[in-house]
Amino acid sequence: MTRTGTGCIDRPSPNHGPRPDGVGVELLILHYTGMPTAESALGRLCDPEAQVSAHYTVDEDGAVYAHVPEDRRAWHAGLSSWRGRADVNSRSIGIEIVNPGHEFGYRPFPAAQMAAVADLCLDVMGRHGIAPADVLGHSDIAPARKEDPGELFDWPGLAARGIGLWPEPTTADDPADDSADSAEDVAALLGRYGYDTAESRILLSFQRHFHPERLTGEPDPETLRRLRALLRMTGR
Ligand SMILES: [Zn+2]
Repeated sequence: MTRTGTGCIDRPSPNHGPRPDGVGVELLILHYTGMPTAESALGRLCDPEAQVSAHYTVDEDGAVYAHVPEDRRAWHAGLSSWRGRADVNSRSIGIEIVNPGHEFGYRPFPAAQMAAVADLCLDVMGRHGIAPADVLGHSDIAPARKEDPGELFDWPGLAARGIGLWPEPTTADDPADDSADSAEDVAALLGRYGYDTAESRILLSFQRHFHPERLTGEPDPETLRRLRALLRMTGR
């Protein structure tokens, strides 16, 4: 399969390789570009010297650039791990989303951009049978190194369209939150969900994705409630 999404602007990158035999695409990883301009990001993603790429980039106006065919292994995740498995590049599709990022003036993602991101994600998920729970941010799989796409990203809006998960509100049936979680307990829960417990900042990364109003790195009750809700929703 060499197809890329419909309506994309071809902007090929030489930075890719074969996927290992027998390894299918099972994760969709969302990034921000973290460069001052869209053009600087597109240039870098296509520069052989840079040795980085993604399958797609979505600009702030909703334009989608296709860099690497989906059947090829793009170089977007770097050292990363999810649910005990490293080499995320081999088993994922990577989408870059234009935003200057925390280094160059982090700002909200425009509605037109998010609409294009959602359409592209649904296309990719449909082509590869990727489950909603397997749509993640770069910061989820590389918490010590990465903050993207960050706390301004509209994960709840995407989840409303079936892209990624958003923790359900508490219901009357919820088991009481009776354990006085030690730091070790919280790390174990995060590990059960998928985070690499050998990494630092995993609770902060969890909050950046699932409780962005509270980037403390501390296990407050609402953060824990959301983590437990996700474990329940996924049966992990
Ligand atoms: Zn990234």
